[in-house]
Amino acid sequence: MKDCIERVLISEEEIDSITSSLAEKITEDYKDSKKPLIFLCLLKGSIMFTTELMKKVPLPVEFEVMKASSYGSSSVSSGYVNIQLDLNRNDLSEISILIIEDIIDSGRTLYRLCDYLRERGANDLKICTLLDKPDRRVLDIKADYIGKVVPDEFVVGFGLDYDEKFRNLPYIGVLKPSVYNK
Ligand code: IMP
Ligand code: MG
Repeated sequence: MKDCIERVLISEEEIDSITSSLAEKITEDYKDSKKPLIFLCLLKGSIMFTTELMKKVPLPVEFEVMKASSYGSSSVSSGYVNIQLDLNRNDLSEISILIIEDIIDSGRTLYRLCDYLRERGANDLKICTLLDKPDRRVLDIKADYIGKVVPDEFVVGFGLDYDEKFRNLPYIGVLKPSVYNK
């Protein structure tokens, strides 16, 4: 895998400090809330980020997953978002939902997903993203918690994939363009 990485963008140590500071803010913001707090992990890319964050938030958090995709095996967004695994919960109006995302790129996935959850009754919806690529935004989506703003380069590792690979890298690296220009 190492040969495919141009450079390390965020080291393991930096990921650790990013997740700690996000967890601190989240804990502070939700500690007095009376509603159940749901960490909604967007599969598959957010899995490592969500578990790291959950370990560092000492509140009675509940865990749910959803899977929505706007990417195929290419590094360019198709513009189409599809809900492949739905949130298996009935009344969304009585809970606080914190969507945990790996990276916001065009914003299409989250825009559509937030719309969908609001249609289902969600009224307390926030977004926590590990990475944000604001230069690439097509739809107006802003996260409430952002780990790090990154430049417009394709990154992999710590859950983020290219063609389903590289998720198991413990750090986040920039993929060599030669890997996806093949
Ligand atoms: P959006 O709908 O364009 O905002 O795309 C968000 C999704 O695209 C993320 O959840 C990722 O799965 C994927 N994605 C966007 N940029 C990257 C990247 O640089 N590396 C890996 N996946 C990415
Ligand atoms: Mg992905």
